[in-house]
Amino acid sequence: MKGNRCLTPEQIKELKEILEQKKKEVIEDIKRGLEENFQSEREVGDVVDMSTDEILKTFEMRIRDREAKYLKKIEKALQKINEGTYGICEKCGECINYERLKLRPVAELCIKCKLEQENFERKFGEEE
Ligand SMILES: [Zn+2]
Repeated sequence: MKGNRCLTPEQIKELKEILEQKKKEVIEDIKRGLEENFQSEREVGDVVDMSTDEILKTFEMRIRDREAKYLKKIEKALQKINEGTYGICEKCGECINYERLKLRPVAELCIKCKLEQENFERKFGEEE
């Protein structure tokens, strides 16, 4: 794991744990959703043993859009932790506030850029 200019190793460790916990929850949710939709028990059994990637690839069409998006954001955040770029605003390059990350560990923008983006969306009705 590379060093991070915005967060201490302790903070990274804590946020990583939050992300991994959330990832587990989302995957559980997705699996539950899939189980409800599946007739064949064999398929459900397979899902339990699958990696996130496999689940997304195999069931992307059936997984609710919001869950798939969130899961991808979590994966991206975990990847950024490994690369040492986690906690850095994707727009302005400033550090994202630690408290903000604790509340929303998948945040990609600092609060300032996020507010600007929301203002823009309100004005022009665009999403992301
Ligand atoms: Zn920013």
